[in-house]
Amino acid sequence: METKYIFVTGGVVSSLGKGIISSSLARLLLSRGFRVTIQKFDPYINIDPGTLNPYEHGECYVTVDGHEADLDLGHYERFTNVPTTRANNVTTGRIYQSVIDKERRGDYLGKTVQIIPHITDEIKRNVKLLGNTGKFDFVITEIGGTVGDIESLPFLESMRQLKWELGSNCVCIHLTYVPFLNAAKELKTKPTQHSVKQLQEVGIQPDILILRTEKDIPLAMRKKVALFCNVSPDAVIQSIDMPSIYEVPLMMHEQHLDEIILRKTNTPYSGEPDMKQWLSFIDKMKSAKKVVTIGLVGKYVELQDAYKSINEALFQSATHNGYKLRLVSIHSEKVNDNNVEGLLKDMDGVVVAPGFGQRGIEGKFVALKWCREHDKPTFGICLGMQCMVIEFARNVLHLEEANSTEMNPQTPYNVIDLMEEQKSISNMGGTMRLGAYNCTLKAGSKVAKAYGSSQISERHRHRFEFNEEYRNRFEEAGMKCVGENPDTHLVEVVEIPEKKWYIGTQYHPEYSSTVLNPNPLFMSFIKAAIDNQKN
Ligand code: GLN
Repeated sequence: METKYIFVTGGVVSSLGKGIISSSLARLLLSRGFRVTIQKFDPYINIDPGTLNPYEHGECYVTVDGHEADLDLGHYERFTNVPTTRANNVTTGRIYQSVIDKERRGDYLGKTVQIIPHITDEIKRNVKLLGNTGKFDFVITEIGGTVGDIESLPFLESMRQLKWELGSNCVCIHLTYVPFLNAAKELKTKPTQHSVKQLQEVGIQPDILILRTEKDIPLAMRKKVALFCNVSPDAVIQSIDMPSIYEVPLMMHEQHLDEIILRKTNTPYSGEPDMKQWLSFIDKMKSAKKVVTIGLVGKYVELQDAYKSINEALFQSATHNGYKLRLVSIHSEKVNDNNVEGLLKDMDGVVVAPGFGQRGIEGKFVALKWCREHDKPTFGICLGMQCMVIEFARNVLHLEEANSTEMNPQTPYNVIDLMEEQKSISNMGGTMRLGAYNCTLKAGSKVAKAYGSSQISERHRHRFEFNEEYRNRFEEAGMKCVGENPDTHLVEVVEIPEKKWYIGTQYHPEYSSTVLNPNPLFMSFIKAAIDNQKN
């Protein structure tokens, strides 16, 4: 079949959950046997979000092919199980960079280069790139930001042109917000009407409206919205707040979102989506009674989205193990020798988070020392793994000033050091060791047992590494290097086998954890935490 294109725009306010709606729709279409991918356009000028800090932008997600991406791509993968790539996340910066490169090469043959048609053509080329691979029946394109923003105009103009060119092979979903005014005890649809008007002003008529709301919107009110906005009444759908984002696909299906899309795009279909596995996950989630408590030690724990993929991976694994997850945020800057016991003793397991720079690092060492000495199941991820190594060097190998050269370039014991190929790099953007690399796991290690395999591939995002020169000293003292890159022999996993579960990974296993395929190492960690609780 010809590829169909679905655009998802947002209006009224930001953070309405376009990513969750796109992911939910993709889940439903996949469950009907269609091949689906989701991409996101971000209207900011940065080439990618890799250089943005978590206060600006939440977590930075990493694709298999090494692209530093918007965190919505994490949702896409968690819902769909379909890996994303660089082509799934494009910013205004990338669009302009590519147009300017073409201009410098002389590709435009002396023409004046303009937003229309050159920038819009480049946007359209990027929309169709995925469709043209022949691998997808549906390409869902989420436009970041809110309708009415100056910076999203070129994207909307491209969308208008594509709708015109593609006819019924292109559909626009517009997501808005219907506030409830407590004083008037009323839901208000006026902002939605205004938002649709703004879309119409730039020549786009939405085909489907999804109204985000905290209260049930009466049918009569939905009909009114349909009438005012030129949308058929059955295509006005409400998205009421759900206890879990993973229930959104079911709520969308109840209101026939998938069928409306299939009808509007003239796509033949029959029967119902096969949501068996998904429903079984939701069942487990709802029926879980027992609680597993995990402490997450990091410097951004007050930010809801900073460790998104880790939170979700823990939640998925807890659910698959039949437990509710209680995630306790532990601010690494606030952990010290006096309070560490109080903060950690009631945790069934502890995760030490990834990160960059000095802030909060000493607290991570204190937490790790306590966990190691009290045999708590402990999981160090990226910087968390590097901290495990440094703490072990300081307190077991008695190399008191051991450090990473990231934190102290003059340290006499550089147990974590800059990777050789990073030494000549001065640009910050997109230059880390990024994306999926193979890793060979040592037979008999806990980590190999967890994966049930000695050959794995996981995603990375770092500049520093375990310093090979110290390997023997660590191994003799009980911290084993149990995973390494088969080509470069970089150490990717450390483990203290005599502990219940004390494992650090240089890679980020959270990126590959999905609802239907939870990451094996997270599964194993949660099992260890549950066992620890029972004892
Ligand atoms: N700052 C460390 C490095 O660059 C760890 C990075 C991370 O935790 N993602 O190697």
